Amino acid sequence: MSEEKNTPAPASNFLRQIIERDLAQGTYASRRWAHVPGDAAQQAAGEPDPAKIRTRFPPEPNGYLHVGHAKSICLNFGLARDYGGVCHMRFDDTNPEKEEQEYVDSITDSVQWLGFSWEGFGDTHLYFASNYFDFMYRAAEALIEAGHAYVDQQTAEEMRVNRGTLTEKGKDSPWRDRSVAENLALFREMRDGKHADGAMILRARIDMASPNINLRDPAIYRIKRATHHNTGDKWCIYPMYTFAHPIEDALENITHSICTLEFEDQRPFYDWVLERLADAGLLARPLPKQYEFARLNLTYVITSKRKLMQLVTENHVDGWDDPRMPTIVGLRRRGYTPESIQLFAERIGVSKADSWIDYSTLEGALRDDLDGKAARAMAVLDPLRLKLTNWESLFGAGHAEPCSAPVHPHHEEMGRRAFNLTGEIYIEREDFMEEPPKGYHRLYPGNMARLKYGFVIKCTGCEKDATGNITAVLAEIVPDTKSGTPGADSVKVKGVITWVSASEGVQAEVRLYDRLFTEAHPDAGGRNFLDSLNPNSKQVISAWVEPGLANTLADTKFQFERHGYFVADRVDSMPGKPVFNRTTTLRDTWSQGQK
Ligand code: ATP
Ligand code: MG
Repeated sequence: MSEEKNTPAPASNFLRQIIERDLAQGTYASRRWAHVPGDAAQQAAGEPDPAKIRTRFPPEPNGYLHVGHAKSICLNFGLARDYGGVCHMRFDDTNPEKEEQEYVDSITDSVQWLGFSWEGFGDTHLYFASNYFDFMYRAAEALIEAGHAYVDQQTAEEMRVNRGTLTEKGKDSPWRDRSVAENLALFREMRDGKHADGAMILRARIDMASPNINLRDPAIYRIKRATHHNTGDKWCIYPMYTFAHPIEDALENITHSICTLEFEDQRPFYDWVLERLADAGLLARPLPKQYEFARLNLTYVITSKRKLMQLVTENHVDGWDDPRMPTIVGLRRRGYTPESIQLFAERIGVSKADSWIDYSTLEGALRDDLDGKAARAMAVLDPLRLKLTNWESLFGAGHAEPCSAPVHPHHEEMGRRAFNLTGEIYIEREDFMEEPPKGYHRLYPGNMARLKYGFVIKCTGCEKDATGNITAVLAEIVPDTKSGTPGADSVKVKGVITWVSASEGVQAEVRLYDRLFTEAHPDAGGRNFLDSLNPNSKQVISAWVEPGLANTLADTKFQFERHGYFVADRVDSMPGKPVFNRTTTLRDTWSQGQK
């Protein structure tokens, strides 16, 4: 059944193989853990690390998480869960600008909503990289003392020119061979605010001739007068990301540091930093190792934080949690479940090669998850009134005929839903035609069809307004044909019509969402992604739904029979005034080119 599909055995991948090998060889078995991030001495005083592996998810708190981050979250937290480890939630907040508490809150919310926790082995593994600034500073001094770093006073332009190119070696800076004492003094002056922003930087002293440009004496500390959200004005120098990141991993006892492919060329510097600091006795061995995987690229979707920010600030969407946004808050409001996103991450797996995943894979995972658990309901999205002209003579005026249906066709335990059939109902406008084409089995004058869970009816005609628009369909109940009664099969019909009682149904706002972009690769080849915004990505209609949906709780998911999956909007839906978002259609209509 569909539930089984939702929990496949995790497919093997190269990261699982690396972890299994490390566990078999006991690569990390000797680690000790002081229950807090710390240097070699601190960790050595701790207990044997109870976590078999440690991974981390390290977002910069400068925006909302998106579906690409979800892949990384499922991967890092999933591996830790599967191998007796723990995944650290770490805010990489070493860049003093652009970081805000709003983003920190939304990120922790999103990770927890996805179903993951950073609690483990008695500790809460929620960390902020900026808490390591003191250690990073100490590490930089240690590198200077060992002759591995120097203060460079070249201009930015000189540094750029002297870095060389892919085909040309770089040139040593004239400041490269300063004495340790001079470097230390200058670095301390940098820290103490004695020099202007950009006047000098601290660089690693590695090899200006290295074929890997990232090893040509990369910058490790810069002067930047900026107020940091956590450390305030304590610092006017900040570590570069490539220096900070390996240190953060090592202080936290991370074993497998998993990042996206663009950091592959940084791996030698990652190792260089950690080896030097372990040699200096500052960091505990065994050291963390970096592994790279291909980032998620999803067709019809943009996963650049900067561009998503632009969609929000320029009001192309209604905020970060607009149901069309690929942010986790947007997916949630659209009706995605944590399970569906986990299933998606499992299905796409991890690889070392960049590729595009088709959007239908995400929707497919969602349908597979919702199919087994979403309650069914009838809704009429494009209402046309239908009058049952023999209702009064058959049942008496104002009669309401009780009908019922299973909440879910394959899950009896979910119970039944009840609603009344009345003398006037709404049907879909497309379910009536005055002059039907061949093969049309729904309502047209003279034809019979079944009202789902109700009676067979016979269409007798329609009413029109002065301009010829059809305003109501006329039909008669065929007596003794009620669904679930012995006579139900006495009259055979080919068409089944969904409906909602006009007097008992509930009017609801329904937001029909579609893809935000019409191009599969909206920002490929430097194209302006705004050019392919789908003008029809949001359509708001007034629909009629079963009376039982009047007070639907926010976030409740339904399959509106024949229309697709819908969710009660978590922001705007109110008791008595429900608002539903279309999560997805029942089938993938895009790949068939039907839009
Ligand atoms: P952006 O460049 O849009 O700001 P980012 O990659 O810098 O995004 P971070 O906050 O640094 O965003 O990302 C946190 C983690 O999420 C990183 O480990 C990163 O590798 C991972 N990640 C980000 N985008 C994707 C993606 N599209 N697919 C897989 N992992 C991703
Ligand atoms: Mg980043």
